[in-house]
Amino acid sequence: MAAAAGDVLVIGAGLAGSLAALALRQQGLAVTVVAPAQRAIASFCGYGGVSSWPALPGSLGEAMVRAPGCWQALEQRHGPLGWQSCRLSLHWREAEAEAALPLAERLRAQVPDSQLLQGRLSLPFGRLDAEVLAQALPRVLEQAGVRRVDGQVERLEALPAAGWRLWLTAGDQLEAAQVLLAAGPASSRLWPASTGAPRLGMSWSGALELEAAACWSDALPAGAADGIVIPLLGQRQGLETRCQALQQQEWIVDAGVAPRRGGWWLGQISVVAPAGAVQAAPDATWMEAELRRGLHATWPELAALPGRLVQVPVAFPGADGPLFGPVAGAPGLWGLAGFSAAFSLLPVLAPDLASAMAGPS
Ligand SMILES: Cc1cc2nc3c(=O)[nH]c(=O)nc-3n(C[C@H](O)[C@H](O)[C@H](O)COP(=O)(O)OP(=O)(O)OC[C@H]3O[C@@H](n4cnc5c(N)ncnc54)[C@H](O)[C@@H]3O)c2cc1C
Repeated sequence: MAAAAGDVLVIGAGLAGSLAALALRQQGLAVTVVAPAQRAIASFCGYGGVSSWPALPGSLGEAMVRAPGCWQALEQRHGPLGWQSCRLSLHWREAEAEAALPLAERLRAQVPDSQLLQGRLSLPFGRLDAEVLAQALPRVLEQAGVRRVDGQVERLEALPAAGWRLWLTAGDQLEAAQVLLAAGPASSRLWPASTGAPRLGMSWSGALELEAAACWSDALPAGAADGIVIPLLGQRQGLETRCQALQQQEWIVDAGVAPRRGGWWLGQISVVAPAGAVQAAPDATWMEAELRRGLHATWPELAALPGRLVQVPVAFPGADGPLFGPVAGAPGLWGLAGFSAAFSLLPVLAPDLASAMAGPS
């Protein structure tokens, strides 16, 4: 017997599912979020960086400029979520200076309050502390009246008249008029086959959790005291873009450091299978060794510090972009997954999606 779950069932309790659930409650809808009780997800194990300038082209770039204001408004309504304004340092090695400098100059000219420094460009930025966010969101959702079901969705079934039934791993079933697929990389697997496959890709991402005591401040790169440090010539997006041409699994390391409550994130290794296909978690010992090997080229001292590897699956946009909006040919089914710059875009886009879901069908 399937349990009725209110107006909307949201699959996933990461950033996408949580922000959408809050926005749907603002629209007065009865919302249930279903997800496994799990901390090792991208939303709670990343740098949480938020751009205040249009780091992406077109309308997405215009949307992301509103992100800091959206985070501040969310905190005013719900209490602390871990928002802080900070700086972003885009660094390069001496050997990369010829390629990096023209790009850095261009960005410096475009972004107010940016500074070109020795081996890095410093830009205004913001971030959400992953630890604070992970602790705050369950409380905030509960206070907003969002119902929570701990469980893993196995498949979706369209009901004959209207609405959807979710089949959970434990055998339970839930039904609602509308379903929002916000399950990160699992969104592809849950997508109803009748509507064609969504072209999201998936990577396994790894970063080291460094405790503050293990990392004296002299060892940190310039800019780390002020916020997030990542490479100007980062390779992750390039690997995602060329995933269709991969013959075998490939991986890259982008040397980055970001603060987290109680220490630092040191990353990031990204492992992608041919066509960005869903893959099992890589062997953690191998992944940590490759991450440390990649970091050694940039920060040999940091690469040797004790730290705990955290590995999480991350969805990335395919050729058609992220999942955003109604699913064609599946009335009542919506998608919100696979965003690059998720922390800059989701607080802006989730309310738009919620108002579309609350509107006339
Ligand atoms: C090291 C690192 C650094 C990053 N830095 C940044 C950054 O600076 N800025 C930025 O914007 N982004 C950054 N990202 C990416 C960002 O964290 C993700 O894009 C974003 O958190 C994705 O959120 P999400 O809610 O879509 O997915 P997820 O966080 O993956 O959440 C998916 C949810 O779906 C649930 N789920 C999965 N399968 C099922 C199922 N079968 N049934 C029910 N529920 C299910 C999961 O349990 C989870 O609750 C970084 C990521 C990493 C790993």
